[in-house]
Amino acid sequence: MLSDLSLFNRLVDELIKLEKTNPVVSPIAPSELLETLDIELREEPQMEEDFSESLRQIVEATPRTASSMFFNQLFGGRQGKAVLGDLLAVVLNSSMYTYKVAGPQVGIEREIIAKLNDLVGYPKNAAGTIAPGGSMSNLMAMIMARDMVDPLAASQGMSHSLTVYTSAESHYSIQKNAAFIGIGRQNVRYVPAMADGTMNVKELREMIAKDVLDGHSPMMINATAGTTVLGAFDPIIELAEIAAEYAIWLHVDGAYCGSVIFSDEKKHLVEGLNQADSFSLNAHKMLMTPLTCSLILTKHKDQLYTSFANDADYLYQTDEDDFNLGKTSLQCGRRNDALKFWTLWKSVGTSGLRSLVDHQFELADFARNYVRNNPDYTDFSIDDSLSICFNYKGYTAKSICTQLYEQSEMMVGFGQFREEEFIRLVTINANNSIEDIEHFFSHLENFCDENPALLEEVKTKVNAN
Ligand SMILES: *Cc1c(COP(=O)(O)O)cnc(C)c1O
Repeated sequence: MLSDLSLFNRLVDELIKLEKTNPVVSPIAPSELLETLDIELREEPQMEEDFSESLRQIVEATPRTASSMFFNQLFGGRQGKAVLGDLLAVVLNSSMYTYKVAGPQVGIEREIIAKLNDLVGYPKNAAGTIAPGGSMSNLMAMIMARDMVDPLAASQGMSHSLTVYTSAESHYSIQKNAAFIGIGRQNVRYVPAMADGTMNVKELREMIAKDVLDGHSPMMINATAGTTVLGAFDPIIELAEIAAEYAIWLHVDGAYCGSVIFSDEKKHLVEGLNQADSFSLNAHKMLMTPLTCSLILTKHKDQLYTSFANDADYLYQTDEDDFNLGKTSLQCGRRNDALKFWTLWKSVGTSGLRSLVDHQFELADFARNYVRNNPDYTDFSIDDSLSICFNYKGYTAKSICTQLYEQSEMMVGFGQFREEEFIRLVTINANNSIEDIEHFFSHLENFCDENPALLEEVKTKVNAN
């Protein structure tokens, strides 16, 4: 074990140096992977030296998500204290289902949930748990919503048609989960978004009224706090009114930007959040905790137990339910995703997490202004978002992003809203500075200006008339 840890230290040392000197790896074609790297498993053990060399090469060839040039998804960078917590969680290898097995780690998870519930403005008896990702947090919310509206569904199966309302811009997990929980993909109603990317509340009202007339039972409105592409915030106060009127569960999917609850300046974006029945956020996105760390909070502790507790005499043999976290989990054995978030939070304080969030918005404001004040760019961004959406000169977003990746220059992705496709720069790595964002743009410009032949031009739209 100790020699494994010293190998680990060596590998990480090298990696951290490489992240600086060589922030983007050369991609390996999937078809060439097994020829390029020693991935193959064999009958015979591998000699120690060959083993470390194989591992070193694999580490070196893995995309560097913590580098200053990684803008591809809604996570990036690295927080040392969070990594420390995660490494310890691996070594301790607790399973979070019972107090008997996890001891103080249970207290750590409970403390995180209590503090988050405070920040949301939920009552003292609010509850919550950690799910394996934002999609699964949404799943848990949908299960609670279903069981509230149709209490017999869990024991007898579905007896009638339940409907879910979510923005056309919301995350795809809503539809996937609708299939999982037996309400059916077709019963997800996609409410169109307005020009600013937020849900059209008037159309939502009409859709619900029509469904009620047609004999459906609306069960959940899913509001998004930070839509995956634009980063838009659905209007929670208005949605809460409708939810109350029809007795529908209101969930706020804050996987991407729910962490604005930490910022005095930005928490107005989720105004009314305490009226939602449940709320989820991914600490592995804005709070830079290693994947995955997704929290689902609810003010209906009883519903959380009703939907997720199952008796298991072989498991729950000591202590009270409040400390046997398995009673509110999706899983049975559950990895400790709390410690890494706690080590970060403990070390930087709530004020440190606030600075992190505020800095992400500063970087976003800088990037947005840069795009808006530069005639070579077309801007598609909304204000108050960490997603800066734009096109450069006449090139397609797809060709720029693909070429930057293939030439191992930068990792950035593209997205779509309405008919437009654009590059989406995400300023979620709070380790980046304004200079890193300037560098992003100058790098992109130089690359495009020097390699026009690699890029595709946007075809000008031909008017059908
Ligand atoms: C990322 C994201 C999710 C999914 O979270 P995972 O942890 O990737 O499963 C859900 N909703 C929104 C709005 C997201 O941005």
